[in-house]
Amino acid sequence: MGRDRAAWALNPDQTQQLIIDESAAARQLRAGFPWLTFEHDLEHEFRREQARSRMGQIRFNLFLGAGLVICFGLLNGLVIRAGAQASMGVVHFGLLLPAVLVAIGVTYLDKAYRIYPRVAPLLAPISGIAMIAVEARAAQAGVQIVFVSVVLASIYIYFLYGLLFYQALRANLIMWCAYLAFAIVGAMPEANVIYNALVLLLANVIGATIAYSFETEIRTHFLEQRMLAETAARDGLTALYNRRRFDEHLDTVWQLAQREGVTLALLLVDIDYFKKYNDQHGHQAGDDALKAVAAALRRSARRPLDFVARYGGEEFAVILYDPSRQYLQEIAHRIHTNIAALEIPHGDSVAPMVTVSVGIAYVAPTLERSTAGFVQLADEALYEAKADGRNRSVFSEAAYDSLETGSFRKRRRTG
Ligand code: GH3
Ligand code: MG
Ligand code: MG
Repeated sequence: MGRDRAAWALNPDQTQQLIIDESAAARQLRAGFPWLTFEHDLEHEFRREQARSRMGQIRFNLFLGAGLVICFGLLNGLVIRAGAQASMGVVHFGLLLPAVLVAIGVTYLDKAYRIYPRVAPLLAPISGIAMIAVEARAAQAGVQIVFVSVVLASIYIYFLYGLLFYQALRANLIMWCAYLAFAIVGAMPEANVIYNALVLLLANVIGATIAYSFETEIRTHFLEQRMLAETAARDGLTALYNRRRFDEHLDTVWQLAQREGVTLALLLVDIDYFKKYNDQHGHQAGDDALKAVAAALRRSARRPLDFVARYGGEEFAVILYDPSRQYLQEIAHRIHTNIAALEIPHGDSVAPMVTVSVGIAYVAPTLERSTAGFVQLADEALYEAKADGRNRSVFSEAAYDSLETGSFRKRRRTG
């Protein structure tokens, strides 16, 4: 449309970029994860969510595994002569089956999603070694075909045991070494050992390759879902968190602050005479100004726990967790200077450039207080900042009287 973009206006790519910069999932997706590990927090969440969402499926797989163990135990009984049968039966039904049953039992525990991921990487190699022991005994007794069950066990560990790629790989490598160890100790025929060791290795290459791409896919899916959720929490115009996310966040930090006995600050930031700005410069320019103000607010509150949202229309909200009074003053000061530095010409306001008024509430959440009351307190302070002439911050706190700063107005709340 040919309208020149002002120097302070963000282009759409920059707005998009802001979301991406702040989204851990987006960053991870962009950086890739060839080693199948995310950065610390994401990895933790991924594993927990995986364990949670897959526990039912894993339990089913384990029942299937128990069935297979019983079937192979009975089959072995048919093909192996009586002498070797007893010792094989002991390993099969005395170690292998119990290991699977323990795993099944764990899936029924209250905190299964926490315990199973710790127990399974131990149980899997134990089951694997038990399989190898049974096979070695059968080979000694002259029955070679039992080796097939070892290959099946290897595949089972990759895909059905509910392990992550590296855990499955480790369990399989242990199993492979155990095979060589049993072969050497049992003095099995060399040709058989070499052939079987190679077959098991190839089964591992196939298993590991498929498991790797499978895990890459579920990890990608996880990151994409996270990004989707993060996008849904954002305001489409400014890329700040939206009102819904603000409400959720306020509830969360309110409870947290109550538990930890710390204070919260809420800053309500409202653009001065913005209706007039729209009237003078058009709605499109109004949108650009909102975006620029949003970005300036984000720059003003950058500690990890600082939270900036679009509260609605031309109002923004900043929640600070456990801020010192000095930090609170700094932020309020920075908000005014950062927005002034944008130098967005207004033309019909208290100053030549776009300004904001800020209402600040600073309280220690207690049982008698509520989030609604907190917002109300900030809103009253904002109203006062407007009434006092705009382009200023008003501070509101129950029992607060030691603040000394030129730009602040202090008010005391009664009742
Ligand atoms: P005050 O200084 O008292 O806050 O005056 P004001 O004009 O800013 O307040 P008022 O609540 O009367 O008007 C807010 C205006 O903000 C009205 C609306 O046109 C404008 N506005 C709200 N949301 C948007 C938006 O998404 N884009 C644009 N361009 N304007 C918006
Ligand atoms: Mg306004
Ligand atoms: Mg308003």
